Amino acid sequence: MYERALAGREKALGAEHSATLMTVNNLGTLYHDQGKLEEAETMYARALGGYTNVLRTEKPPLTALRSFATVLGRSMKATNTNRQISFSRLSRLISLVKERGKEDSLIIQELGRAMVFWNNDESAQVAYSHAVRYIKGQCADFGGLYCSGCRQPITVKMGLHVCRQCADTELCGRCMADYAHDALVLVRCARHTFFDVDMAALAASESMGIGDRAGASAWMDTISDEYNAGERE
Ligand SMILES: [Zn+2]
Ligand SMILES: [Zn+2]
Repeated sequence: MYERALAGREKALGAEHSATLMTVNNLGTLYHDQGKLEEAETMYARALGGYTNVLRTEKPPLTALRSFATVLGRSMKATNTNRQISFSRLSRLISLVKERGKEDSLIIQELGRAMVFWNNDESAQVAYSHAVRYIKGQCADFGGLYCSGCRQPITVKMGLHVCRQCADTELCGRCMADYAHDALVLVRCARHTFFDVDMAALAASESMGIGDRAGASAWMDTISDEYNAGERE
């Protein structure tokens, strides 16, 4: 289905239109989920090339930046057998977050997922703390992060658990408890382990979240030094 959609979009819109790139990205995720990692890599590499060009030539819309962050995060996991490529994609993701992600929850979240994947739990916690969206002065949610179990938007009150192996699987507290007792079955996540975001720490900290530009900048500087951000693939 995606293959046909892709051919149609490429013909009608061109290879670097955001809708075409999104379809390439979706096809990559589909292959990734099916365990066809070589095919996934081909699609991801194609999408990454396309986004790199789009970001260079235009004033990129937020949707393109978000998709670019998503492809970097997912492709990094698909190519984990090649640590060098995977690490280089992580560096690019950090650069993107540093340059453009400070005011966008979804882009920072992608870095949280990446840090979980790289087992850097401390940085994952910080990334999620900067991804928190405040509504009326209260820690509210993550600006569009959905539970893979109940499909509800995940709020700070619900809890957040991030799969360490999957490209994009997160659970709310209730679904995590169901999963732990086998009341919720996630086919992809059989025997996967989860990172538990410390929600009490998120709710207790005042100087975090979207909009805390100074705090986010200082942290981004540290993490980009740590992961050599700025180097190109
Ligand atoms: Zn849920
Ligand atoms: Zn999983």
